[in-house]
Amino acid sequence: MINLVDLKRQFQSVENEVLHGIAEVIKSGQYILGPKVRELEEKISTKLGVTEAVAVANGTDALVLTLEAYGIGVGDEVITTPFTFFASAEAISRVGAVPVFADVDPGTYNIDPAEIERRITTATKAIIPVHLFGQPVDMDKITEIAKKHGLLVIEDACQAFGATYKNKRVGSLGDAACFSFFPTKNLGTMGDGGIITTSDVELAGKIRKLRTHGTTKKYYHDQIGYNSRLDELHAAILLINLTKIDEWNQKRRELADRYRQHLRDVPYLTMPVESEDGSHIYHLFCMESDRREELMQDLLNAQIQTGVYYPRCLHLQEVYSLLDYKKGDFPIAESLSEKLFAIPMHPFLTENEQDQIIALLRQKGGS
Ligand SMILES: *Cc1c(COP(=O)(O)O)cnc(C)c1O
Repeated sequence: MINLVDLKRQFQSVENEVLHGIAEVIKSGQYILGPKVRELEEKISTKLGVTEAVAVANGTDALVLTLEAYGIGVGDEVITTPFTFFASAEAISRVGAVPVFADVDPGTYNIDPAEIERRITTATKAIIPVHLFGQPVDMDKITEIAKKHGLLVIEDACQAFGATYKNKRVGSLGDAACFSFFPTKNLGTMGDGGIITTSDVELAGKIRKLRTHGTTKKYYHDQIGYNSRLDELHAAILLINLTKIDEWNQKRRELADRYRQHLRDVPYLTMPVESEDGSHIYHLFCMESDRREELMQDLLNAQIQTGVYYPRCLHLQEVYSLLDYKKGDFPIAESLSEKLFAIPMHPFLTENEQDQIIALLRQKGGS
């Protein structure tokens, strides 16, 4: 089987360092929010060009704690894309605010700034653009809209660690940014993890307090917080993967170039559009086809894994029926949910494996 991602191969490539890092933590007797987490926070803030990084339990919590630290809640609206993983909107709902969706661009699949502007009301407090599949959103336009209307911008960068936009790292482009270290993310650990990056010192302080039960002084609480911390073991693993991430992202880009070169003339396939302002790091390689189901079946028969990201837009999720959206509200996102599919993409995919996938997509689909 050629898998969408291959975490075993990823581990093998860093096996000695990871096992050493894990052993070090185990022997140290310090397991939660210790020196490894501090080192990870420092290294990530430096790498991304921000002053603060706060590690938390997962990417969803990163979003929830950031929204809460900004005081966003009941009565507020936050604009995001209907074409993303559920957590982008779930976090908004979790703090009591209302997610307001805006349709996406048909080529990049990212939220369309013009659509954002149409959805702004007096209740709007923030925009959460998602760098979907690893491709940076058009942040200049979004920042301009946010400035004009006095809104916060919180990047959902869970799929885009290391990607750049106009030579700046994703994670340094808005007021704050949220990352996930779920194992299959391009920078992942062997469990759950997440981090918030920002240059807002006050915000970072509020999030640090929220992540440990609303306390700055142990056993004295003036706020209801969370238990949302990163373990030292995960920090140790992430510190190693962090040294490889640029190389891994570069490999993803090279593989994506090869897919694009060899598949772009296939009439029943539409390649994703790469924006000129950003470097797409291809957390996933998704493309469009009217014959998605048939192609996926052909690939599966040949032991090649595929995936659908995402089969149902968020405005059409059952849980959001109370928001009164209907089919047809976001035609581009809805069309993508019917046509996009992902083929294997990870830094350890070999050219030989990629050639098999390409050959199959070219021939089999032609029947
Ligand atoms: C994975 C992901 C999240 C949530 O991260 P978890 O660590 O799984 O909680 C949020 N937003 C997007 C776009 C994601 O891909």
